Amino acid sequence: AGFEAFKLNRQLLNAVSEAGYTEPTPIQELAIPLALAGHDVLGIAQTGTGKTAAYILPLLMKVKYAQGMHPKALVLAPTRELVMQIEEVAHQMAAYTDLRIVSLYGGLGPKTQIEQIEAGVDILISTTGRFLDLYRKGKIFTKEIKTMILDEADKMMDMGFMPQIRNILEIIPVKRQNLLFSATFSSRVDHLAAEFLEFPERVEV
Ligand code: AMP
Repeated sequence: AGFEAFKLNRQLLNAVSEAGYTEPTPIQELAIPLALAGHDVLGIAQTGTGKTAAYILPLLMKVKYAQGMHPKALVLAPTRELVMQIEEVAHQMAAYTDLRIVSLYGGLGPKTQIEQIEAGVDILISTTGRFLDLYRKGKIFTKEIKTMILDEADKMMDMGFMPQIRNILEIIPVKRQNLLFSATFSSRVDHLAAEFLEFPERVEV
């Protein structure tokens, strides 16, 4: 039982155990098997429910090991603070893998972030603005992105990021897995889900 029941590899199970997680939270129980099976997922879960690990663990399982130079997955979040929190969980869960995780956000110069991207990256965690900024500077090769995650999608819409999300959807491959997490469900979230997700499985806690 516990996390052992999921089809996660030993590296990830070790990290989970080291983080002190003994039992999956309800959102993890529901979302992890669906995401691991390759479904698009619409997850309705608030901060504090364990939603980050619910999508990060299947993502790390899918990308699995460092490969080439270009990102295979993109996690988008509304704020710099949330990007940093996601990065922390991702690094913790990826501790026994060789995956290269890079976070991008504004508020400081892009030099270090560009250097990290140029050294090779598997998973990008970013605000929409800084992602588009570095893409337009020719610093991000997007054609190998196979998984896209929107975290706190309701907040992203509240903050007016819908046009930027649409711009990003236009520059990444159409054939991909999509995970959409939102603290609340509303007709706007429903519309975004209809636009962004393909035959989604909806989970709510
Ligand atoms: P989140 O909802 O992703 O912001 O996570 C909230 C907090 O719960 C974080 O501090 C996580 O480290 C912690 N957490 C996530 N999953 C579990 C779990 N299965 N058992 C114990 N703590 C967890």
